[in-house]
Amino acid sequence: MIQRKQGKKFAYLAPEMQPILEETYGIIVYQDQVMQLVQALAGFSLGKAHEIADGLEAALGAELGVEVEIETHIEPLQMRGLSGRDAPNERVAAVRDALNAIAANIAFVGQVHDVRVRETADGEIVNFHCRVDPQLTVRDVHERVDDVERALRQKFPTIKRVIGHAEPRA
Ligand SMILES: [Zn+2]
Repeated sequence: MIQRKQGKKFAYLAPEMQPILEETYGIIVYQDQVMQLVQALAGFSLGKAHEIADGLEAALGAELGVEVEIETHIEPLQMRGLSGRDAPNERVAAVRDALNAIAANIAFVGQVHDVRVRETADGEIVNFHCRVDPQLTVRDVHERVDDVERALRQKFPTIKRVIGHAEPRA
C-alpha cells in the first residue's frame, strides 16, 4: 500500500470498486469496505461477481504471498465449527430429494449437491450447494436461493436454518 501511495500504478478489478477503495489505494483495509463492495456487487451477474472474487483472491495473494491462504465469500458465512452432529443418511437423502424437487420449480436454479444436515439442540441446520444461471445478478440469485430455503423450511418445520450456496453453472 505504501508503494501505491507513492504513485505505483494499480488497477481496480471493476470500476464500481473505485469510489469504495480510493481512500486506501485500492486495497481493502476496513471491514466497512467489504460491506460496501458486497452491496456494489449485488447488481452484478453471478458470473462476473465470481470473476471479481477470483481476481480479489489473486490480488490479495500477490500482496500477502502464496503461503497465505485466501478465500473470499460472496455468500453468507458457511457453517463452521457448529455444535451438534451429522444427521443420519436417510434424513440427508430426504432433505436432498426435497431440495431437488423445490429447485426443479424455480427457474435458473438446479444441480443441488453437497447437502449437509446437522442436528443441533435448537433444531436441524441444512447446508446445500446449487448451480444457477451465471447471467443472473447476485441479487436475483439471493432471492431465488431464499425461495428454496423458505420452501424447505415449510416442508420440514424441524429445520431451523437453511444456508444455500450458489455457484455459476458452467
Ligand atoms: Zn458446490
